[in-house]
Amino acid sequence: METRKVRGTHDIYGDDIYNFNKIKNIVLNNASLSSFKELQTPIFEYSNLFSKPLGEHSDVVLKEMYTFKDKNDDYLTLRPEYTTPMIRAAITNNLLNTLPLKVFGIGPMFRRERPQKGRYRQFNQINFEIFGTNDYLADIELILIAYDILTALLPNIDIELNINSLGTKENLKEYKNELSKYFENKKIELSEESRDKIFSNPLRILDSKDDIDINISKQAPIINDFINKESRDQYDLIKKTLKTLKINFKENPTLVRGLDYYCNTVFEFKTKSLGSQDTLLGGGRYDGLIGLLGGPDIPGIGWAAGIERISMLMKESIKTKTDVHLAIFDSKFKNHLIKVTKYLRENQISYYWNYKYNFKKSLTKANLEDAKYVIIIGEDEFSNDSYTLKKLDDGQQFEIKINDIKKFIKKK
Ligand code: AMP
Repeated sequence: METRKVRGTHDIYGDDIYNFNKIKNIVLNNASLSSFKELQTPIFEYSNLFSKPLGEHSDVVLKEMYTFKDKNDDYLTLRPEYTTPMIRAAITNNLLNTLPLKVFGIGPMFRRERPQKGRYRQFNQINFEIFGTNDYLADIELILIAYDILTALLPNIDIELNINSLGTKENLKEYKNELSKYFENKKIELSEESRDKIFSNPLRILDSKDDIDINISKQAPIINDFINKESRDQYDLIKKTLKTLKINFKENPTLVRGLDYYCNTVFEFKTKSLGSQDTLLGGGRYDGLIGLLGGPDIPGIGWAAGIERISMLMKESIKTKTDVHLAIFDSKFKNHLIKVTKYLRENQISYYWNYKYNFKKSLTKANLEDAKYVIIIGEDEFSNDSYTLKKLDDGQQFEIKINDIKKFIKKK
């Protein structure tokens, strides 16, 4: 039988798991600081939750969703993103009765993309969402939380906040029409992939990685010329507030995001340290989406960050030291060993034993793992009903009774 992992998936262990847990802790801390409540949703949902809101012509819906038919003929999809399941959960559980609702989540997403560095088919995201306000300070608070999390985790990495405003749905529609006309005129020069998107999804052409497409996009109409006064004023206030908060940003008129539901503010945190998959975090407003999903007609805004990409940039990894390694001379002292183990567990002292009745091997392992102490269980200890505690940094040894172990370790 051949055992191999599914293409685009990865196992998380060693330094990565250390980083993942650190990321989680910083996220939990930031969430509780700003009173966001955790909301966990199932890994799969009915497929139609995603297809319409994300856009029938979006890359995710067209090519990337893991969709399968259940035994009762329902179409189910492994969640490719968190915003729509979060909204679905808020509606299902009547959480939108008290607004605004501030929620966050951490968990795996699934997209059948072409795997490469920083791009997986199963990856983990952090999501923060605010439902029920169009106050621009909600946009600011979310950007601030994102900024704090990223700078806490990646203090030495250059991260650039890109922002843009897409205006209202109507503004965006008008803009898309103009963009389609512009690209239609350049049709023969465009890459084949972009040519297919001229009418279905012209915004995506602005994201193309093809050099000729990039050049053509430089002359394309920009969204900022299409947005109405209200959106423009909101955008100006956001920029002004970011300056007051001393959060550097770049206005990026080609930042449009891949999904259909965005409007007004959109933003991304990017870095040059990651290669082509350079976006760490992205988000924006989605006024209208909650209504579209059957909820009340209230606005919303949120962001998602990729845990794998953040982890790839985290340099340091700290090995957690085990307090005590157990070293036993002979299997006849088994009962003592288990008695000590129980004592250590009850007293919250971390321990390790290699299941070897061999003092030397246990000591070598303890040195290798950089343990703080070794508790030795042998003939002398057996007859005196005491234990030898060896301090590994200076080699000192102490003869002590079991009930004194905690006091002794604490004192040292
Ligand atoms: P998106 O939902 O596409 O805006 O993605 C939000 C963030 O999730 C990105 O900025 C990435 O950090 C991360 N991300 C998206 N797709 C992938 C992927 N296929 N593999 C790893 N991380 C991803």
